[in-house]
Amino acid sequence: MNKSHINSKFIIGNWKMNGSLKENFIFLSKLKNINSNKYHQMGICVPFPYLFQANELLNGSKILWGAQDISSYDKGAYTGQVSAFMIKDFNCKLVIIGHSERRLFQHENESIIFKKIVISLNNSLIPIVCFGETLNIRNNGNTLAYIDKQLKKVFKLNKDLLSRVIFAYEPLWAIGSGYSATQEQIYEVHNHVKKRLYNLGVTSTCILYGGSVNSKNSSYLLNISGVDGVLIGGASLLIDEFLKISIIS
Ligand code: PEP
Repeated sequence: MNKSHINSKFIIGNWKMNGSLKENFIFLSKLKNINSNKYHQMGICVPFPYLFQANELLNGSKILWGAQDISSYDKGAYTGQVSAFMIKDFNCKLVIIGHSERRLFQHENESIIFKKIVISLNNSLIPIVCFGETLNIRNNGNTLAYIDKQLKKVFKLNKDLLSRVIFAYEPLWAIGSGYSATQEQIYEVHNHVKKRLYNLGVTSTCILYGGSVNSKNSSYLLNISGVDGVLIGGASLLIDEFLKISIIS
């Protein structure tokens, strides 16, 4: 995974179902004009209707952009769906796959998620593959076993494909709750998944942490061993907050 410079981490925003042409213009124009050498590798995943605008405003910058989902099909009679090929028309590099909100509200299961990962890789997109446990699973001591189950199909990809995947550990209880996971919890999961990947021959791995990241806790979270960046929901809607998180300290 190529980042803009050494020591750089990935800071990826997920706008979810937020934004407007007017608000986005202010955000994206400011983002485009920063001195990227002072910042980690930033990326922003916007709602489909705003991909055109992201492409128009960010083209030529070092910022990456992408979508929050794609169809598990290439093309055809799938009303309302958007294909990997289509988002490539807007020069997307990133696509979030298997976010917990899609698993919950769109009932996405591991086999749909796997198809989407394969389609994104076939289209030279970088899939950001989300996984993570519920509070109940954690409290019952089943976190690592659950995560192994979530990633079982993904780990069947060959090592070259796996090295093109960005993973995102997002404990469900930490998303939007204001409570991020602790250093020990994050270290345990990231290193567990990294070990699995190394055992499959994947030497270049990238795992983001996501869940209530903000400008107050980001440097603490980014300094945890095994954390290659962060995936941010709420705090990625405000440009100043997003830049504060992204600046290399
Ligand atoms: C997310 O939904 O991916 C997320 C991390 O949200 P938040 O940062 O708002 O917790």
